[in-house]
Amino acid sequence: MENFIDTPPSELAPTLQRLRSNWQASKPDYAQRMDDLGRLRHALRLRMDEMAEAVGKDFSHRAKAETRIADGMTVLNDIDHLRKHLRKWMRPTRVGVGWRFLPARAQVRPMPLGVVGVIAPWNYPVNLALIPLATALAAGNHVYLKPSEHTPHTARFLRSLLAEAIAPGRVAVATGGADIGAAFAGLPFDHLVFTGSTAVGRKVMAAAAAHLTPLTLELGGKSPALIAEDYPIEHAAARIATGKWFNCGQTCIAPDYVLVPKGKRDALTKALRDEVIARYGENLTNLDDYTRIINAGQYNRLKGYLDDAKSRGIERVTLAGHADPAQRLLPPTLLLDPSDDALIMQEEIFGPLLPIKSYRSLDEAIAYINAHDRPLALYPFSHNRATVEKILHGTLAGGVSVNDTLFHFAIGNLPFGGVGPSGMGAYHGRAGFDAMSKQLPVFWQARRSGGDLLKPPYSKAKWLIDLIVR
Ligand code: NAD
Repeated sequence: MENFIDTPPSELAPTLQRLRSNWQASKPDYAQRMDDLGRLRHALRLRMDEMAEAVGKDFSHRAKAETRIADGMTVLNDIDHLRKHLRKWMRPTRVGVGWRFLPARAQVRPMPLGVVGVIAPWNYPVNLALIPLATALAAGNHVYLKPSEHTPHTARFLRSLLAEAIAPGRVAVATGGADIGAAFAGLPFDHLVFTGSTAVGRKVMAAAAAHLTPLTLELGGKSPALIAEDYPIEHAAARIATGKWFNCGQTCIAPDYVLVPKGKRDALTKALRDEVIARYGENLTNLDDYTRIINAGQYNRLKGYLDDAKSRGIERVTLAGHADPAQRLLPPTLLLDPSDDALIMQEEIFGPLLPIKSYRSLDEAIAYINAHDRPLALYPFSHNRATVEKILHGTLAGGVSVNDTLFHFAIGNLPFGGVGPSGMGAYHGRAGFDAMSKQLPVFWQARRSGGDLLKPPYSKAKWLIDLIVR
């Protein structure tokens, strides 16, 4: 792309140094943080169409409504949440010292860490860059951001947006691919937020180890939807369709596969087909609202899963339209009861293909989930409280939406993050503020303290030692 030049590796360390010395010279106070967040919000809102255009160019076509919701609304919502609660979160919390240490006092004081690095992926290129960035700013840090090389138009937009909204000494943007990413992850940040694949997450953790940089790792994985016997199939199909085909399945928390009671698979197939046709038309005629696959590499990867399924004789059901590699258009497609060794069941799908697996008992479905990596998201569908509790008790995922998909991501009060191979740490709202702060414990000794007596010769303080050792 013209006018888009990678950041020279030699610039990375000096830029971090500059951000850190600016921070040391003037740590953002409450007013500064509120001002930065307010300006960022205002600029993003005014430039929403420009943002949608940039993201659209990167995808060759991205449903504009999806960009406005998933890259616009989410960021505005998070900034609103941060601004609403910031004063309260910044306040030191007084904590008790326990009777042995009276009359001292103690508090926990959230302190900014310094410079936070943010590495973003391509799938929600504004959301996954700006929510970590805004959270880091709210916590009083400066930020160095590296967007994905696969979304160069968005990266240019972000650079221009941040230049407009925030003073240059407080944020910077580095651009480039895996090489720059690797060098970036090796910088001595005070905290690093990485969003991307589990494979690259491992490399980031290894690079961060050199400086013992604390990490938030927001990774991927296979997120199941589990429809229980009691739940109406049509309702489940509608909500799974939204989670799956929003952004053409290129969502870290998209339902990766569906577990459905044996005997209801065909009803689910029909209900999903009805949903797709109602949304996109019989022949995928509503192409405006159907997002394309980001690039040829991703398209070929997904096509490879279909070819592998074909070679294994797995039934594939195209719900509407036809594939068109020239446009990187891949239609919504179901794969019915694929075997576990099929590629589609081995790797995170990250596209519009949806395996449906039949199960005979809830225990079997829970055991299937537990036999695999802990997922980033889990979607139980049941109106029966005991069934939902059984699923929640029997599994562990990064986050859960009950009787829907995706929504837990959007709630400012819910910490968002994975567990095990799907990630480490969490952010959004208070969880992000805390992760990007040092929770400084401060002990305040009183004028007179029993502690002064705890010194040799201990025989003199025996009465006190006897009092506290019990
Ligand atoms: P990716 O891991 O390929 O790339 C993410 C970022 O890492 C990019 O900016 C890239 O340039 C950079 N990078 C590449 N090599 C690097 C290295 N060696 N060291 C440091 N950085 C490096 O991921 P992607 O293809 O952009 O995104 C898709 C993946 O991200 C999927 O697995 C998806 O599940 C996951 N994801 C997770 C979340 C979440 O919140 N948990 C959100 C979106 C996407």
